[in-house]
Amino acid sequence: MICAKALRCTARRTMIGLAISMALTGAVAAQDTQTPETYGIVPPPVCTNNKGEVVHYVESSRGRPGMAAGMARRDERGKPVVVRSNYQSAPPIFQGFIDRHECAHHQTGDVDRPHPPRNGPEHLMNESVSDCIAILRLRDEDGYDDAKVGLVTAALRAEMAKIGFPEISISSRISNIENCFQKLGSPRDFINRILQRRGLLQP
Ligand SMILES: [Zn+2]
Repeated sequence: MICAKALRCTARRTMIGLAISMALTGAVAAQDTQTPETYGIVPPPVCTNNKGEVVHYVESSRGRPGMAAGMARRDERGKPVVVRSNYQSAPPIFQGFIDRHECAHHQTGDVDRPHPPRNGPEHLMNESVSDCIAILRLRDEDGYDDAKVGLVTAALRAEMAKIGFPEISISSRISNIENCFQKLGSPRDFINRILQRRGLLQP
């Protein structure tokens, strides 16, 4: 997500950045007065960071009620975690995408790197890369086809629209995901290329 490191993210809209961090900020004033629909929480996918540490998933009810959010960070003891906030608010297919997106911030080493300026090109690139890895994993490990990718992007569109992202942000994010889905090569290859570029690839 956007807030790969910091526990508290400042509230700001991002071009590509997740709905997710917006939700954690509680910055959006509009409140849904209807009782939100709730879903079962899916089991998380395996996740290991670029240093070979196992990443654990932690359930949380922090953040904006009714808005599912994820955050990749290290906890107070320095262990890598993905915090899953209000996951019951998101359809299972979207929960799975958030988990893999957040895991990708650990896989690429984002979590241990200095946080780039919010909404700057480097930050947006990190978000695009995480989206890309997430969809490649769903394709290669979970057998997602075009139809299922369509369900992911529809859910993403609904979440981003709920928060008030402009159409251009939503459609550019979705087209990145669709392009990544067509990529040749495995998620591992893609992650390794990123790590190599960053000088983080373990021999
Ligand atoms: Zn992210």
